[in-house]
Amino acid sequence: MGRYVYDFSEGRRDMAALLGGKGANLAEMTRLGLPVPPGFTLTTEACRAYLDTGSEPAGLWSAVSAHLSAVESAAGRLLGQADDPLLLSVRSGARFSMPGMMETILDIGLNDDSVLGLAKASGNERFAWDSYRRLVQMFGSTVMGVDAGCFEGALAELKEARGVPDDVRLTADDLAELVETFKELVHRESGEYFPQSPAEQLRRSVLAVFQSWNGERARLYRRREHIADDLGTAVTVQRMVFGNLGPDSGSGVAFTRDPATGRPGLYGDYLPDAQGEDVVAGIRNTVPLTELERLDPESHARLSAHLRTLERHYRDLCDIEFTIERGTLWMLQTRVGKRTAEAAFAIAAQLADEGLIAPDEALARVSGEQLARLMFPRFDTSHAGEPLVRGLPASPGAAAGAAVFDSAEAVRRAKAGEKVVLVRQETTPDDLPGMIAAQAVLTSRGGKTSHAAVVARGMGKVCVCGAEGLAVDIGERRFTAADGTVVQEGRIVSVDGSTGAVYSGTVPLTDSAVIRFLEDGSADGAATGAVAAVARLLARADAARRLEVRANADTPEDAARARRFGAQGVGLCRTEHMFLGERRTLVEAMILARDETEREAALSALLPLQREDFTGILEAMDGLPVTIRLIDPPLHEFLPDRTDLAVRVAAARAQGAEPAAHDAELLDAVNRMHEENPMLGLRGVRLGLVVPGLVAMQVRAVAEAVVRRTRAGGSPRAEIMVPLVGAVEELRIERAEVERVLAEVSQESGVPVHCPVGTMIELPRAALTAGRIAEEAEFFSFGTNDLTQTTWGFSRDDVEAAFFSAYLDKGIFSASPFETLDRDGVGRLVRIAVDEGRAARPDLKIGVCGEHGGDPASVHFFHAAGLDYVSCSPFRVPVARLEAGRAALEATDEGGGSDSR
Ligand code: PEP
Ligand code: MG
Repeated sequence: MGRYVYDFSEGRRDMAALLGGKGANLAEMTRLGLPVPPGFTLTTEACRAYLDTGSEPAGLWSAVSAHLSAVESAAGRLLGQADDPLLLSVRSGARFSMPGMMETILDIGLNDDSVLGLAKASGNERFAWDSYRRLVQMFGSTVMGVDAGCFEGALAELKEARGVPDDVRLTADDLAELVETFKELVHRESGEYFPQSPAEQLRRSVLAVFQSWNGERARLYRRREHIADDLGTAVTVQRMVFGNLGPDSGSGVAFTRDPATGRPGLYGDYLPDAQGEDVVAGIRNTVPLTELERLDPESHARLSAHLRTLERHYRDLCDIEFTIERGTLWMLQTRVGKRTAEAAFAIAAQLADEGLIAPDEALARVSGEQLARLMFPRFDTSHAGEPLVRGLPASPGAAAGAAVFDSAEAVRRAKAGEKVVLVRQETTPDDLPGMIAAQAVLTSRGGKTSHAAVVARGMGKVCVCGAEGLAVDIGERRFTAADGTVVQEGRIVSVDGSTGAVYSGTVPLTDSAVIRFLEDGSADGAATGAVAAVARLLARADAARRLEVRANADTPEDAARARRFGAQGVGLCRTEHMFLGERRTLVEAMILARDETEREAALSALLPLQREDFTGILEAMDGLPVTIRLIDPPLHEFLPDRTDLAVRVAAARAQGAEPAAHDAELLDAVNRMHEENPMLGLRGVRLGLVVPGLVAMQVRAVAEAVVRRTRAGGSPRAEIMVPLVGAVEELRIERAEVERVLAEVSQESGVPVHCPVGTMIELPRAALTAGRIAEEAEFFSFGTNDLTQTTWGFSRDDVEAAFFSAYLDKGIFSASPFETLDRDGVGRLVRIAVDEGRAARPDLKIGVCGEHGGDPASVHFFHAAGLDYVSCSPFRVPVARLEAGRAALEATDEGGGSDSR
């Protein structure tokens, strides 16, 4: 039988898998000697055992009793003792933070007798009855399943009857009456009486918290955050301390640095005479910590000292929840705090400067995903006019969308493809689906540590909160700004989570400070901290990484930008993109050519245009490799739509006229070339093998561009890549043709043209016969888009919209395999091809140019698989550089890297 309960004094921070983050960190604070109310933690194993079998594991309650006795004797009081009750809180605490997603029950131990004892012992009758009504309310809804709205309704009725606007004005007698009403309500709705036994209250609360692991919102949150469903939650049971005992009490949350910007110095919110959940709920507006310094300088000084202790100990930004009970400070929770992307970079660099962490650890503390967020555009406010309102900049970024006023509407509109901004007075965990669906979240109440702010920051979603100038009317589905402007549901608003400003209409976007820096090395004032940190950490990553980073670029402009972003070459130039626009008709002419002469003419017209493109790209990437892929898509993609043509021809015939000759001819060609499944049809190397002259024209254009650049004094390094090879024989024939043309151009020009010839590995057969293929290939580049498509049998253009959301819901995979490489399947093929390719040709250069080349998790895989480079879109190049550096460090780290969720 395992051990299911640990006293706070028995745990440590590295026991989060067993004790949950909350339990492990409470234990750590206890060990550090910080003032933590005593308590104990029921393990995640206990939760899993309960959820698996539907009954509590043997020995659980006797262990709980033993630990409870220890807490009772330390307090000198018993749980629910009639004359002076010890009260408990029961809270969830999973291994990974899931803010507000599971249940909490406070004030356990109160009943009809002990409420009187609490009133006497605290000398505050109102407080005692208020605590009791909170217990009945929380227990009633969470444990006994009574609709929370019933309690809210009864409370509202009482306030109306007494003619008072808020709960604070209700007297002790009012609250005692409310307790009766609540208890009756519980009985009526659940058929059961509210349990008077403190032990039963405790037991049922614990089980309800276990069960809340499988609650709908918890599941949704885990799916979004890629947290496994089988971890279970721990439960902490802790002596209650009270922040609502009068003006010398209060509750707050604090961060060791500003979690939005990373600015050093304490940051937080305080709410005098309130319990912790009032702070996070954003129901009353909090005051900044500086106000606590004025109200209670001693507690403030102690709090500051504890926060310094925690930050030095954890060597990271910490956030805490604290309560002051009649002048005594208590620490109720700590964890390494969630932060914005901007703060993540700034803080990592600061901690390295302060010597708290090594430069390599600073690099490990930031992620490519965060860097990508910093590269998103910002609002160009020079033409935006005055904002409608300003709130707190809680989670940065710029987003515009139609204002919506509840979660369901947000989800409904987002499903229909509309961009929305969720506007609420404050959010609760029930708003999670709407927050996920929305581009931005805007609230009129609550601080930077309110639910809306914390959850939005965690999701990297734009958020402005505490916009007090907004009167939000959920019923009428509108809000009114301070200047009287009314915004009805559906009107577009633009939300700037970096400044807190909210504008009417769509504000145009401009480059972020990080993009400006990457483009030209300049940085603007406000973001200097984060931008400077990005520059430093990118340099560190470059020094650490083994993987080279190239870009997928089809134009000189893209190639030049990619180079400014740090690309070390072009890993994929898709030549077919050069056949679009006005040139499409030339391809059309080639397809329709009736004889060799016509075909030659069409190809000759294309040649100089392609040569021009290649010259530009080789110039932009002078001295660096440029992998040019021969044409890949089926040719009918360059012809007009079959249905349009058929309609045009039929319409002409219906009017008794002859259709235009060209249309008829085209329709003929389109019908001839039509494929049921073009992704598996005449494309890739197959085209080059059956369409005469096509490969020769492309290779000539490349070779002539190389000659030009060489004559101009450049150092062109073109490489020629053959797509969709499945058998070495295909490559052998194609390669011979490529080399014939290269030799021809060398001879004609007198300039020797050497281009390595390689292939994409994007079919399972290519991966499985990689040893053979390597005989003919000087390099491999994994086309993981097609390789994913062909390995899974997923049509890459169809499946994401058709059923991926169902697959994600059912947990068949936790991320789309087109976004993050499927290591077990596609990854295995990659490893086979790397091993067998290198065995046949030890100097084989190997890269990847599918979308996965810019995906952080996949970059780590490619590093581990021994690739030489990744290639991705220009905007992902900095992300890939950073992740390649992190992957190299992780590999040398003994721990072998981050937690697998
Ligand atoms: C691939 O298949 O991964 C690839 C890069 O080629 P494309 O996306 O052009 O098919
Ligand atoms: Mg491909």
